[in-house]
Amino acid sequence: PQHSGSGRADAANDSGPASPALRRSGRAPYDVLVVGAGFAGSVLAERLAAGSGKRVLVVDRRDHIGGNAYDHLDAAGVLVHRYGPHIFHTNSQQVVDYLSRFTAWRPYEHRVLASVGDKLMPMPINRTTLNLLYGLDLQDDAAAAAFLAARAEPVETVRTSEDVVVAAVGRELYETFFRGYTRKQWGLDPSELDKSVTARVPTRTNTDDRYFQDTFQAMPEKGYTAMFERMLDHPGITVETGVDHRDLGDLDVATTIYTGPIDEFFDFRFGKLPYRCLAFRHETHDTETFQAVGVVNYPSEDVPYTRITEYKHLTGQRHARTSLTYEFPCAEGDPYYPIPRAENQTVYRQYEALAATRPDVHFVGRLATYRYYNMDQVVGQALATYRRMTSEKAGAPVG
Ligand code: FAD
Repeated sequence: PQHSGSGRADAANDSGPASPALRRSGRAPYDVLVVGAGFAGSVLAERLAAGSGKRVLVVDRRDHIGGNAYDHLDAAGVLVHRYGPHIFHTNSQQVVDYLSRFTAWRPYEHRVLASVGDKLMPMPINRTTLNLLYGLDLQDDAAAAAFLAARAEPVETVRTSEDVVVAAVGRELYETFFRGYTRKQWGLDPSELDKSVTARVPTRTNTDDRYFQDTFQAMPEKGYTAMFERMLDHPGITVETGVDHRDLGDLDVATTIYTGPIDEFFDFRFGKLPYRCLAFRHETHDTETFQAVGVVNYPSEDVPYTRITEYKHLTGQRHARTSLTYEFPCAEGDPYYPIPRAENQTVYRQYEALAATRPDVHFVGRLATYRYYNMDQVVGQALATYRRMTSEKAGAPVG
């Protein structure tokens, strides 16, 4: 039998005794250590265990699996997302097929309203938004396009987020919907942020008020945590929550999947990569419904939070009470959003170069690659990593 760490790529029968080092340390033998039980870590743990017969140890320093997508029943029995609303949407059939092994789906199309003055209006800006804001009666796409074109202000070179929005819709709409929201969200003025930040928010001339336009939009029927539980429920996988990778000592595994912050892995050698943090205020109200849609945005700087989420719209749960989350962006706390500025990418590139010198460690997910990824993108990235690991090592050890 093979020793751990020397199995073949398809080593379903690779269940030999622990390597001497592991036996000496008294620990159970593992081929692979996975740091982080979010999408990146859980997908790779599942693939390596179920697809390649590896013995996988998954650790997460939080007291639960699921990473930022973790959901749970709160004290009132309402299903809530601890780290803010997570809505699943994708154009990748491969990702849908993979996740569908672990969950059924509840169709859900996300809608967002922005609170402006005493009105609520669709976000992203569409024809209804323009009609409500300006008291107009624009009847068709052409009329809305002409209205926006008349407001758009040509910007010679589009560099910043401010340029993107002003060039598309003009200064007034920029100030109503984007400036305050962005300043709260990032703690920076849009004129200081890469153009990529608001390039994500389209403007529409029709009345489509769905927040996303992906071909697949749905929520896991029993929630994200239930999906993760099924993914990790494999005899080859051991999960330990409340365990920090840095406290593990030497496990003597041949392969590590690391999904935590890359700067922390390398002891902040090139400095700290900046993140925007969030504080969440969770509340339960003695009313069946609080707001008309899942998320209401507050673009004005007069209120400190950016948005309120009411989960029952997302989950379809019926309950006499309702639970909400307010989001307050902040500078210090858990890392949530990499701050998209060129100088931060320069620092990240240094860490990335260092990571390339560690063929035993695969850096996967949003913290390890310092990029804002949606859930489906992280699943796609993890599946691609698995394919690369198994094809590179065909006939050679993966674990
Ligand atoms: P994570 O989920 O962050 O998992 C990494 C895990 O590693 C964490 O649990 C962490 O505790 C653990 N870890 C880190 N360091 C260590 C260590 N040293 N030792 C042990 N464990 C460690 N995406 C969408 O598609 N739709 C949405 O609607 C959406 N909404 C979002 C809303 C918010 C507020 C945020 C912040 C993100 C949102 N996302 C959304 C993005 C989504 O959260 C990510 O794509 C996804 O969670 C990334 O998975 P991951 O595994 O890379 O990282």
